[in-house]
Formats: sequence, structure tokens, C-alpha cells
Amino acid sequence: MSEEALLPCFTCGKTLKNAFPDADNQPSEGTEFRTYGHYGSTFWDSLDGEELVLNICDDCLRGHTERLGQHKRYRPVSAHRVGMVGKHYVDRPMVPYTGHTDDGVLKIEPEEIGFDMPDTEWPENVGAIREYAIKLNEGET
Ligand SMILES: [Zn+2]
Repeated sequence: MSEEALLPCFTCGKTLKNAFPDADNQPSEGTEFRTYGHYGSTFWDSLDGEELVLNICDDCLRGHTERLGQHKRYRPVSAHRVGMVGKHYVDRPMVPYTGHTDDGVLKIEPEEIGFDMPDTEWPENVGAIREYAIKLNEGET
């Protein structure tokens, strides 16, 4: 634990501050990337649960967006006054970087939290969340 992230920027070597002083590697103005590797790499393809970890600072990411892709995996499921309560998985292709323009949210009523909806993942305590959301929204019109 340190004020500095464990790793510098992989691209430019700049030292990164931690966003939280008690974190090991939670870079401020940077992002941590983790991978088990994959078939095809001659450098890293872990089959024993060991991840390769690197940080890239925001300036380096912004400076080379033409080298980035993005892949929308799910839309947040949101209920009035409680915010995100689940994930609705989508089947979309990876695309060149666009700047996170898809901010679509699946809005549901508090009573619908935890219902059997295709491709939707709920947290383990979804029943308690539904009760909380219903009580929070009671009396509103
Ligand atoms: Zn950098």
C-alpha cells in the first residue's frame, strides 16, 4: 500500500498516484488492465490463474484512441431512486473506439427487480434490493 500505484504507465513510464492511499494499484488518472492472456500469444497465456497486469495513464490512452477498441457487454438495469440493480447482457461486436457513446440504460419498475428476464444478472441480495426499492418509492406518483 502506497500513495503511488504499484506500476507506472506501461507506455510512457510515468509514475501514477493511487486514487486511494490504502490501495496497492488503483491508479488515479490511469487505468489498470488485467488479462490471463490468450491463445496466440507467445508472451503470456496463463492456464494457472495468474494474471498479467499493467497500467496505462489517461494521457497515453487519449493520445492513441485510434489504437483502441471497445466492446459493450451489458446495459445497466436501473430502477427509480436506487440506480443500478442488475446487468442486462447484450450481444454486440467489438468496435473501434468511439468514446463510450452508448449510455443506454434498461429502466424498470421497483417491482420488476429480480424477475426472470432473459440475459439479465441480478446480485445475490436482489430480494432485499427489491424490498428497499419498493419502500423507497412508496407514496411517489
Ligand atoms: Zn502514459
